[in-house]
Amino acid sequence: MTKIVDATAYLVDIEVERLRTDAVQSFLRQETVFVEVTTDDGNTGTGYSYTIGTGGMSVLAMLREHLLPRLVGADAALVERIWADLFASTRATTVGAITSLALAAVDTALWDLRCKRAGEPLWRLAGGFRRRVPLYDTEGGWLHLSTDELVRGAVASQAAGWPGVKLKIGKDRIEQDVERLHAIRDAVGPGMDIMVDANQSMTYAEARRRAAAFEPLGLAWFEEPLPADDVAGHVALARSTVIPVAVGESLYSMAQFRAYLEQQAAAIVQVDVARIGGITPWLKVAHLAESFNVDVCPHFLMELHVSLVAAIPNGRYVEHIPQLRAVTHSQLRIEDGHAVAPDTPRLGIDWNRDAIDNRRRG
Ligand code: MG
Repeated sequence: MTKIVDATAYLVDIEVERLRTDAVQSFLRQETVFVEVTTDDGNTGTGYSYTIGTGGMSVLAMLREHLLPRLVGADAALVERIWADLFASTRATTVGAITSLALAAVDTALWDLRCKRAGEPLWRLAGGFRRRVPLYDTEGGWLHLSTDELVRGAVASQAAGWPGVKLKIGKDRIEQDVERLHAIRDAVGPGMDIMVDANQSMTYAEARRRAAAFEPLGLAWFEEPLPADDVAGHVALARSTVIPVAVGESLYSMAQFRAYLEQQAAAIVQVDVARIGGITPWLKVAHLAESFNVDVCPHFLMELHVSLVAAIPNGRYVEHIPQLRAVTHSQLRIEDGHAVAPDTPRLGIDWNRDAIDNRRRG
């Protein structure tokens, strides 16, 4: 038994590397909540979670006041047991974003320790399917960028051998979205995946109308067309278009994914390891998707998701949005349009402790 002797949490603001806008928000800074769990054999596991700007202090309070005191004395190897006990102790606030984000910070720290004990990198310990996974770019597709800028970004991605690019949509008029998409398709030709993302901004009627206008473009997927709790709307939309519907970045429990999958409302599952509550439930959602013959293309957090997509047979893509470079010594390794999972026996993120300390807010 490796007993947990200490557990701490703190919050760090990480600036974005460039302005990121979509149909409903701007991403200006990442609130990053770190958890460090120390065991009686002298090892410390580092986990983390995030918000794109609000609620980070609430996650920190949940950890400090409620979750972390329950960890001391527990066997760090019993990751499932710890997750279940912490979840059960938060019944008044589950299922909910703040609690899931807090659980994720703990769970990823426990997986960091688990990898260290096993002497294996995360991608192998979590399943071990393939080390290199296809990468698509979102960083060149933000809503405020001009058509020329979008085209330049997509052409550069293609020249670098990347298999896909994603474009934020939800301009005021449908013709604006269509014009931007056509410009990209004309520039890259038919052999590249183009995804679109509406960030839950549309009504069913508008999403159906836009999907019909997009169909000649051969899109790889239509992401978050509707509010995430409108499962019935997604069911109807999925039946009305040949474009695969992608959801998952705004879902916080396995049961929410099951509801989408069993009604064939999700053709792509975008489970986010922070928002679902950590690696432990992430893997369950990924395996659930496999049972429905559905691929997993997780949302954001490429530094962690590269190892998880590499762990599973139905992982199709990692999303390229660099966000941790200011606080890490390591960088995502990219080869021929593929992300390469780190081979170090931890989560594979080499944190820059000085840079982290300089950005602490809580
Ligand atoms: Mg999205």
